[in-house]
Amino acid sequence: MTQVEMNPTWLADRPVPDIRTALPGPEGQKVLDRDGSVTSPSLPRAYPLVPARGHGAVIEDPDGNLFLDFNAGIAVNSTGHCHPRVVEAVQAQAAQLLHYSASDFYLPIYSQMCEALARTLPISGPKRVFLTNSGAEAVEGSIKLARYATGRPYVISFYGAFHGRTYGAVSLTASKAKYHTGFGPLLPGVLHAPYAFSERDPETGARVHDEDATFDYLENTLFRYEVSPTEVAAIFLEPVQGEGGYIVPPAAWVQRLREVCDRHGILLVADEVQSGMGRTGKMWAIELADVEPDVIISAKGIASGLPLGAFAAKAELMEKWGAGAHGSTYGGSPVACAAGLATLETIQSEGLVENATKIGEELVPGLKALQSRFPKIITDVRGVGLMLGVEFRTPEQAADVQQRAFEQGLLVLECGESTIRMSPPLVVTPEQAQTALRIFGDSVAAVAE
Ligand code: PLP
Repeated sequence: MTQVEMNPTWLADRPVPDIRTALPGPEGQKVLDRDGSVTSPSLPRAYPLVPARGHGAVIEDPDGNLFLDFNAGIAVNSTGHCHPRVVEAVQAQAAQLLHYSASDFYLPIYSQMCEALARTLPISGPKRVFLTNSGAEAVEGSIKLARYATGRPYVISFYGAFHGRTYGAVSLTASKAKYHTGFGPLLPGVLHAPYAFSERDPETGARVHDEDATFDYLENTLFRYEVSPTEVAAIFLEPVQGEGGYIVPPAAWVQRLREVCDRHGILLVADEVQSGMGRTGKMWAIELADVEPDVIISAKGIASGLPLGAFAAKAELMEKWGAGAHGSTYGGSPVACAAGLATLETIQSEGLVENATKIGEELVPGLKALQSRFPKIITDVRGVGLMLGVEFRTPEQAADVQQRAFEQGLLVLECGESTIRMSPPLVVTPEQAQTALRIFGDSVAAVAE
């Protein structure tokens, strides 16, 4: 079996980032050429990064360029790229058993993963867990569970929400009209409401805080004119909105939403696909508001890059459905579970949740200082832990900063209309954070000129 390198030789004694060619380099260009003629044009490529190998918060491309990764594969590589414990666990499990369906049979590692995840959940009492291959599948399962368990047909999500791209999930998604265009009719029974803090001042570009808009809309419009709340199965909430622009709602808003759900017997489903697994400095972002959801959804960071997702609920809720109501051939595959268990152990034993808070607190003042220097183009800096967003006045400015950062070896990714998110692996170091701030600052300065 391959020995897992703690400090890979390809990285030794090299500065990070280290950009040696024009981007993409000649080897990278070959990959782009081949890819361009065979892959689906629907893939929303951000810039021509060709990741070939990774370690911690570093990515190397096929031309030997080193990048500092503040995307983490879209908030996935929680323990960093190829964490030795995760790689070892995957290799060991792959040599033992690659697949058996946990839907029809009993996989020891499947129930171990469910137990380990359940121990971290902000849901009191006994819990049950269903494992999937992706975030969208976990969202689909949660829609089904909510309808099944309540006997109610409607589900509500928020403007700006992203819940995935399969039919149910994309129907809940309302972050960009293009995700729906050409795909109708979508899943019936999906309704949308305004999220907290969602409007931008047209003059300054700053975010306008309106905590009442959601509740006015729900109680005085939606529940009055369109559907009775007794017909609503669930409200799907991103406790920190991700693709919609890294928007952190006030704790009081989340608590008020919980009250609305309780008043009407509606389930509160926390989609923590992006915000969970320690990224916000809490294991689950909904803990920031001290609110208990009825259902919680996880994916992305849960297995450091292996395809694993989950949805979990109070046992009494999930026990409403019986054998055959829901299943999956691959969901919770042994190798993905091995990666998931190693990820959970690593997050806990290496204090990665605490590190998310610590490094986030180092990044925010640097980003705010940048906003003070360039108030004409940066309109907002927000976020919590390692889920940070820098909003620009225009989408073009955000795209330009993203491209310039890439050319200098810093990987960041846009979200919302004109926000750049920073979602590095939770293992990121203070030195790497300072390097990222320097390159990001240079990129903003160049765009502001
Ligand atoms: N939910 C949220 C909050 C997400 O951010 C995403 C993906 O970005 C999804 C669901 C869908 O996850 P996946 O891409 O694994 O299907």
